[in-house]
Amino acid sequence: MIDGFLKKTDPELHGMLVNEDERQESNLEMIASENFVSRSVLEAYTSTLTNKYAEGYPGRRYYNGCDHADAVETLAIERAKKMFGSGFANVQPHSGAQANMAVFLAFLQPGDTFMGMDLSHGGHLSHGSKANFSGKYFNVVSYGVRKEDARIDYDEVLKKARETKPKLIVAGFSAYPRTMDFAKFREIADDVGAVLMADVAHIAGLIVAGEHPTSIGNAHITTTTTHKTLRGPRGGLILSDTEEHNKILNSRVFPGVQGGPLMHVIAAKAAAFGEALTPEYKSYMKRVVENAKVMADTFMGRGFDVVSGGTDNHLVLLNVGSRDLTGHAAANAMDEVGITANKNGIPFDPHPPTITSGVRLGSPALTTRGFGKDEFIRTANLICDLLENMEDPGVRQSVKAGVKELSSAFPMTHFRL
Ligand SMILES: *Cc1c(COP(=O)(O)O)cnc(C)c1O
Repeated sequence: MIDGFLKKTDPELHGMLVNEDERQESNLEMIASENFVSRSVLEAYTSTLTNKYAEGYPGRRYYNGCDHADAVETLAIERAKKMFGSGFANVQPHSGAQANMAVFLAFLQPGDTFMGMDLSHGGHLSHGSKANFSGKYFNVVSYGVRKEDARIDYDEVLKKARETKPKLIVAGFSAYPRTMDFAKFREIADDVGAVLMADVAHIAGLIVAGEHPTSIGNAHITTTTTHKTLRGPRGGLILSDTEEHNKILNSRVFPGVQGGPLMHVIAAKAAAFGEALTPEYKSYMKRVVENAKVMADTFMGRGFDVVSGGTDNHLVLLNVGSRDLTGHAAANAMDEVGITANKNGIPFDPHPPTITSGVRLGSPALTTRGFGKDEFIRTANLICDLLENMEDPGVRQSVKAGVKELSSAFPMTHFRL
């Protein structure tokens, strides 16, 4: 955090922000959808572009004075295209959910049918949950994973698609630890004449670094967030390959669902995309995947049940229900010792989403912090110690001490050079 004006002008707010700095410093961040941005991304984020209205697109704005905003947005677009090898990019969506909303509005009318992964099987709220606009305005058909191996059953997806004839199919997830087969999804989409939208919010960084097969070329449209594995500011991004799709998507983002773009965020996206194009980022993502694997192996070595028997990506879904715990209790106990994660439903979970039987753990943030395999093995063992001795205050103390040792050994300044 920048320690300048705010301390003098608004000590109350400044104190709160310093508390958050300290929380991030002292805790082990294992929420799979979080990461730590570089100082450079943070600097772009706090630029004076936040003052600028730039409704429209580069060269076609409703306001004057957009020369520099145009340059910044064009840079972000060019870098996004280069990162993914896609023909077109829209860098304006305020978030992942807004990116998805724009795509739905481009290809669906209210009441139309689309298909998405069931939230309780690893899908996202914006893929048709009843609590979300996507589930309120459209007819949603959900697909899930097989009970035996917790993997997507593509034959079942095809069967359901043939039965229900969706206009659009969403291939994407927030809590699926396995590789997603975009080519298979495209075959299914073609079979029923649907548009295929890949939502790679979680795995965008893996795709950019070649650690997961790309959706580009298979999906007609790809959406993503920019703040998860991509390690940029909070925001969304839409990628497409044809001029026609690009045109309609641009119009659905603005003026369809948004007003003025957050130009300071777009500057921060450009900074993050620049970083994601470096060899260092590629090696970072490789370590993210390796670290998630050793974490899963450590849990299984200690006799814990890991959903699907391991991981191919950056996340591990731990089934604590098999140890007679709830996700709610496990995540809260972890929080108490300084390990931040989230309770998460597991496929066929007997508990409701507020309780759950699982904990979702990700490797991106701690890998950014500098954790290697040894530290992930140690962290996973600390979690096992804690979960095996939920009622033992002595164990809780020693796990807490272990967390402190690890967080102190990898200060946040480490990677912010
Ligand atoms: C995180 C996520 C989103 C939504 O991102 P927000 O920026 O929080 O709106 C959308 N889709 C998937 C698959 C996600 O994991």
